[in-house]
Amino acid sequence: MQRILLVLDLDETLVFADERPLARAPDLDLPPYAVYLRPWAREFLRHVAVHFELAVWTSSSAAYARALVPVLFDDPSRLAFVWSRERCTLQRDLANDTWVHAKRLAKVKRHGHDLRRTVVVDDSPEKHLRNYGNLVRVAPFLGDPADDELPHLAAWLERLHIEPDVRVVEKRGWRRHVPSPVSFMHAAS
Ligand SMILES: [Mg+2]
Repeated sequence: MQRILLVLDLDETLVFADERPLARAPDLDLPPYAVYLRPWAREFLRHVAVHFELAVWTSSSAAYARALVPVLFDDPSRLAFVWSRERCTLQRDLANDTWVHAKRLAKVKRHGHDLRRTVVVDDSPEKHLRNYGNLVRVAPFLGDPADDELPHLAAWLERLHIEPDVRVVEKRGWRRHVPSPVSFMHAAS
């Protein structure tokens, strides 16, 4: 079976960035933003890169993505794509009466990817209303240094490889079905 493509969001999924720094020093300064990596972000990405094809899609700017991607990924040249706000579609969110930068997976399909083998990891479900079956929603990361979402996600993702169509897999409440998180301790420096 074809490797699964994992399309990763940045803000509140892999990092937290804000113009006002938290009480601790940021991991990275990207003026005007203080950027904090989600705990285990690098280890998680190294782990999933073994079995998944990886891509990044942020609704932030291209410059922001370009600055952040080399910090997160060992080898950004292996990413299937790095997309930013320009690829998003401004879409009305009726439930919240706002506009959102939707990430329409039809564009990923046109880029040559099979949506049966595509999973999106994002904290913002409102950006994925048209492709809900592809979305694994993570809890938003707002800087908590004890956050352990990514080791749990790594464990949950392992069950996906045997599924020919990832869209039929129930993803709501995924974290409750993780018996134990992946231990990245061996990878920590
Ligand atoms: Mg986000």
